[in-house]
Amino acid sequence: MATVVAFHAHPDDETLLTGGTLAAVAAAGHRTVLVVATDGHMAALDGRKAVRLTELAASAAALGVDRVAHLGYADSGHGAVLYADPPDRVRFLRAEVAEAAERLAAILREERADVLLSYDRNGGYGHRDHVRVHEVGTRAAELAGVPRVLDATMPRDRAARIMRLLARMGFRRDDVDLRSLYSADAEITHRIDVRAFAAQRKAAVAAHRSTIEQAGSYAAIAKVILRLPAPILGRLMRWEWYVEEGAGPVARPLDDLFRSARD
Ligand SMILES: [Zn+2]
Repeated sequence: MATVVAFHAHPDDETLLTGGTLAAVAAAGHRTVLVVATDGHMAALDGRKAVRLTELAASAAALGVDRVAHLGYADSGHGAVLYADPPDRVRFLRAEVAEAAERLAAILREERADVLLSYDRNGGYGHRDHVRVHEVGTRAAELAGVPRVLDATMPRDRAARIMRLLARMGFRRDDVDLRSLYSADAEITHRIDVRAFAAQRKAAVAAHRSTIEQAGSYAAIAKVILRLPAPILGRLMRWEWYVEEGAGPVARPLDDLFRSARD
């Protein structure tokens, strides 16, 4: 039995890149822990902080996750302005990498994590909190001596297609550089077949009701996912992808689930 810790920036991020992975790992009988750096909360004073974390708990339950933890930071948002901190905590970008890594490492040690799921070095599409997840995740795994780190990613051309589709739907992101989206095919080392877990993934996406009501790009993707019958979603979104630094011929925890992308 292994323990897999998935580290994410915001509540809802767990559903799109690693939702199927978490469901598959849990279904295979392993322990799964979901850690978010931020509560996904931008404004200083409203009730959304609690709402986002409650929705995260429901999403995690749908995926079979055993424990959810929050590192205690606020969302840094994107765009030119980094807003002032809320009264009781700092935005993730203002935290020292070493300090945030120590908070995550404490959980990794407590859980005796075998595998950490983090983000690729581009932070996927480049949200500053997502880039920071890669930095903090890498450092925390070193501090805690986690044997295996898999950075969640996506093939670049597939990600670019999705960005173009979102732009046509009115969600154009001029700050996104299509040339450094996620990972080139050659950088991707592993993939996991999540076809059988489409129903769980849909339930996890649906749990993030307040984000869906905000009608942003997550909502646009969520609406497509929620409209598809599970067998079709399973076929269209069959794989989740990872980059493992230094991946080689040595056997590592959960090699049966995380298959080489070259197979
Ligand atoms: Zn995010």
